[in-house]
Amino acid sequence: MAKYIFISGGVMSGIGKGVATASIGRILQSKGFKVTAVKIDPYVNVDAGTMNPIEHGEVFVTDDGVECDQDVGNYERFLDVDLTTDNYITTGRVYQSVINRERNLGYEGRCVEVVPHIPEEVIFRIKKAGRKNKADFVLIEIGGTVGEYQNMLFLEAARMMKLSQPREILFVLVSYLPVPKMIGEMKTKPTQYAVRTLNTAGIQPDIIIARSQFSVDEPRKRKISIFCNVSTEDVISAPDIESIYQIPINFEKDKLGDLILKKFGLKSRKNNLKDWANLVKTIKRAKKPVKIGVVGKYFETGKFTLMDSYISIIEAIKHSCWFHKRKPEIHWLGCEKYEKSLKDIKELKNYDGIIVPGGFGDRGVEGKIKAIEYCRRNKIPFLGLCLGMQLSVIEFARNVCKIKKACSSESSSGCKFPVIDVMPEQKALISERRYGGTMRLGAYKCKIKPGTISFRAYSKNPKEKSIIVSERHRHRYELNNNFRKKLEAKGMIMAGLNPERNLVEIIEIPAHPFFMATQFHPEFKSRPLKPHPLFREFIKACIKK
Ligand code: GLN
Repeated sequence: MAKYIFISGGVMSGIGKGVATASIGRILQSKGFKVTAVKIDPYVNVDAGTMNPIEHGEVFVTDDGVECDQDVGNYERFLDVDLTTDNYITTGRVYQSVINRERNLGYEGRCVEVVPHIPEEVIFRIKKAGRKNKADFVLIEIGGTVGEYQNMLFLEAARMMKLSQPREILFVLVSYLPVPKMIGEMKTKPTQYAVRTLNTAGIQPDIIIARSQFSVDEPRKRKISIFCNVSTEDVISAPDIESIYQIPINFEKDKLGDLILKKFGLKSRKNNLKDWANLVKTIKRAKKPVKIGVVGKYFETGKFTLMDSYISIIEAIKHSCWFHKRKPEIHWLGCEKYEKSLKDIKELKNYDGIIVPGGFGDRGVEGKIKAIEYCRRNKIPFLGLCLGMQLSVIEFARNVCKIKKACSSESSSGCKFPVIDVMPEQKALISERRYGGTMRLGAYKCKIKPGTISFRAYSKNPKEKSIIVSERHRHRYELNNNFRKKLEAKGMIMAGLNPERNLVEIIEIPAHPFFMATQFHPEFKSRPLKPHPLFREFIKACIKK
């Protein structure tokens, strides 16, 4: 029977609950167990697709086309598995199913109430994720912080599960211990309050992961033990570290894996975290930097720069840099300044490679096009992703094919030369304002053209004659096939095509050291020990520069 580990957060958000969950999973996997992870997002949005990335961070996309929280990406990267719709729960999704069932007389005339029907639906979904993934362990990360009104029903579901199957449930609290400068001491009180709040929900944590700037010492462990009702060995020290990939190794220093197994009365089946330990060694040894500039717009919030919107891209760059034994150095370049004046554009020369990532709407589009033009003309290795590909096509159409008014129907209404146009099925959806979960989402096939950089990148053996890959999508617009001949005549290569609908998925410009752009998002499929082939080749070209 599957075991369930609930992970909730105390004191404040942003302390790394997601990577803690993913790391626990990785450890249990290394001990020979099959693990899956479920993210619970307490907001009412049905999925993350309708949220601005500045607000919520990256929208991660699974193979089956769910627009979900970036933590699902962390789980995939740490566990090296492909997750699905079953691994993502939101308040919106839960209420939607309960209401639909009620409308269909699924409750057979009974009064449908928040408790127990909502937590019951949550439990049903958690168990389904375990069943579908044939998991020995299901990790359930409850988003938000304990004490918030929003996640109460999810804690209630966890409590109800514990009541009915006490031996199969474990609670982990990831909490934060501040070290205020003026005091100079690590404080445990906020964590004590967090545990008390959890206690009022009827839950006692079995393990406390103590996040802090520093390692948690013995006196502090004792204090947490006494006031939070756990033994000192159940307090796991989790200091700030340079790379998130170090976390499983750090947790194992406090023997977290065996501690969990012991609590369930299980023994490890094997012990193999070696590949992971080697990765961490590589990360620490890599000294020579590769300087990558990301030209985007979703990172400025007031006085702070937020990188969360591009998390999968960041990780994909890192995976490939480490593959080449280099140190990733990522710089954030706001695209709007290139729109106002071209004074700054020369700064792009200072980077080994430039990425233009995905995006929506018209803000910053012309600045990105300027950056792409600069990379193309000055032979700077370039990788465009989704919107990055669409804008590369516009740039090429304008400046090489001389279609001066080339544009995308997304950013210029009434555009006469839509080299990027809305997909036919999307027109109706947009006019009816049916935006949620209706883009071209998830995995589609892509046939790779022989003789291209893409073909070499994806090829697993030199004798391979035909390659079809599967990549993840999230878009409404596409390269307009009416302009394809004109683009090809001037040297743009359609290096990847979707065989079913003849859609262009990858473009390359051969008269350049590395100019590639994809309609799909390769970043979603990069894994720390298996970098994505296109990112790998891009970074290789950057190193050459
Ligand atoms: N806005 C573009 C589209 O919808 C690109 C989307 C993206 O970059 N993910 O087609």
